[in-house]
Amino acid sequence: MLNYKHSVTLDVTRCKGCTNCIKRCPTEAIRVRNGHAVITEERCIDCGECIRLCPYQAKKARYDSFEAFSDYKYKIALPAPALYGQFADLDSVDSILDALLRCGFDAVYEVSKAAELVTEHTRRYIKRKGLPKPLISSACPAIVRLIALRFPSLVDNLLPLMPPIELAARNARAEAMERNPELSDDDICVLFISPCPAKISYIKNPVGVQKSAVNGGLAINDIYFKLRSEMKNLKDPKLISETGIIGLNWAGSGGEATSLLSDKYLAADGIENCIKVLDEVENGTMHELEFVELNACIGGCVGGTLNVENPFVAKARLRSLRKYLPVSQNTIPDSEALGEDVFYDVDIEENPAAALSSDRFEAITKMREIEEIYQGLPHLDCGSCGAPSCHALAEDIVRGEASIDNCIIRLRERAEK
Ligand code: SF4
Ligand code: SF4
Repeated sequence: MLNYKHSVTLDVTRCKGCTNCIKRCPTEAIRVRNGHAVITEERCIDCGECIRLCPYQAKKARYDSFEAFSDYKYKIALPAPALYGQFADLDSVDSILDALLRCGFDAVYEVSKAAELVTEHTRRYIKRKGLPKPLISSACPAIVRLIALRFPSLVDNLLPLMPPIELAARNARAEAMERNPELSDDDICVLFISPCPAKISYIKNPVGVQKSAVNGGLAINDIYFKLRSEMKNLKDPKLISETGIIGLNWAGSGGEATSLLSDKYLAADGIENCIKVLDEVENGTMHELEFVELNACIGGCVGGTLNVENPFVAKARLRSLRKYLPVSQNTIPDSEALGEDVFYDVDIEENPAAALSSDRFEAITKMREIEEIYQGLPHLDCGSCGAPSCHALAEDIVRGEASIDNCIIRLRERAEK
């Protein structure tokens, strides 16, 4: 965790300490101390929820710039499917892909193409016997990190297959070297055009793989205007896209699950809804399901904070774009076995940041202390203490990070006495 490079950051100079963000952080990673927010890095999953909530734009996402990679000989763009929903009046996605080439990329590899391959791999994998049920999609990195932190008992339910972004990067590199034998792997730079900070963070701190094949992440809203001006001058775009309906559907919630040809699935979006579903899965009430798709952002990836367009408008545009497309343009023959290279190469581990102690007895003792302190607090969850709830303040006190005097109601009572 020490070398973890978060995408979501706080600009202390803008923060007014209003406490808006602390209550909705899904991992209780934010406190207000000394008049401004403080993010506990070990707990932050880069979901971007606090970026949406802050009325003073004090929370921001860090991302890369295209210019930072100018030294590479060969640059490949990996457009997220959500990018296709950002532009009005398109007949096909080819003009976006061609515009990316005109922005300075040497090649484009659609993440939606890799998504169709992941769909094929998942359909095969899900048929294996003895798998934990339900399997949970590992495509949204914020959800994977949420599970590792708050639902460690469900880590084994995560689908252990490479997410589309990683598969796309690996395939794009291999294709580039095949087409340009003079290139070495070090000459190639793969840049993901991201709809959200969670995926930018994934590139810097991959989960399930030792090292990501992606070099950097650009934000959709950063490249949008450049792309739009290139698209205006495009009369006859090159035919580049190799994606069908399934690949485009991955941009929205339910797109991954519905493509699996099974009716035993559930798809939820929005971090709070996802937490409710994970609670149910943890309680064992969803074992009849085969697959659960969860997206931290409302609407799925089209709802990410680095997009330009309203997620519902983006979804409507994607619907019209896919009208004349085949179901899928990337299939694998049934006879082909599932290769080891499509699986994660490292296990996803629990994140101990939320644990009270690695010692079971000590953890139980601390839980009791928290409950005792909590009983003595006013249960108003007002946030004035800088913690998201009275229970979180009790936990902070037991962890030695706050004192009972942080509660202004108790402090006033003591002063009056
Ligand atoms: S919402 Fe959070 S980051 Fe924004 S001003 Fe309020 S306390 Fe600061
Ligand atoms: S990005 Fe998400 S997890 Fe991190 S501090 Fe903001 S709301 Fe909390």
